[in-house]
Amino acid sequence: MKTPTLELNKAHWPVTVLGPGRRIGIWVQGCSIHCPGCVSQDTWPPDPAKAITVRDLLAWCAKVSKNAPEGVTISGGEPFEQAAGLRALLEGLSAWRRAEHLDFDVLCYSGLPLRTLESKHADLLALLDAVIPEPYVDHLPQGPIWRGSRNQPLVPLSARGRARYAHWLDAPAEAGRRMQATVEGGRVWMIGIPGRGDMAAVEALCQSRGLTLTEVSWRR
Ligand code: SF4
Repeated sequence: MKTPTLELNKAHWPVTVLGPGRRIGIWVQGCSIHCPGCVSQDTWPPDPAKAITVRDLLAWCAKVSKNAPEGVTISGGEPFEQAAGLRALLEGLSAWRRAEHLDFDVLCYSGLPLRTLESKHADLLALLDAVIPEPYVDHLPQGPIWRGSRNQPLVPLSARGRARYAHWLDAPAEAGRRMQATVEGGRVWMIGIPGRGDMAAVEALCQSRGLTLTEVSWRR
């Protein structure tokens, strides 16, 4: 049988701005939805050269989190466009949680409508604790915490998800930290959900200090 893989844009530990607690962040490569205003346009083109085996990704998760993450957030890119790899990852995370008696939750973003996920990917939803579905809509106001636009609900899917996310369903964006910055591989990574105009403001500020940003993920 073929070893399950995922095309991966990036993985990071700890992420503290995309769900409660100290989390593993996994961003897949490839999204055909192309929401206008998406800040992660570097994740749009599929790239087989970025494929990683799910086994290696799970080993990395256990190592960096010292076997004690409070959550895992999967985003992208569009995770559900790599359904086989996503399934293998979710099954692997469940097996890890059971084997080590851990209690981390798994939250997944998707730009697909909730109805589409329910009809085409019910098997994957059954492996998640919560999902944030629906495409990003740039002309709508910013959503509540961890959401880019107001149309994106936070949907708990399991008993663990209902317990962990009850407090956050409609919490304002300001209830948590919004952005994290890291430097890896000679690049600055901004993790989180920026407020409207935040990235343009960062760019203008850099420009005013004589720093021109030549490659940014919020335009192509
Ligand atoms: S916001 Fe998400 S679903 Fe929309 S284009 Fe960007 S990566 Fe794709």
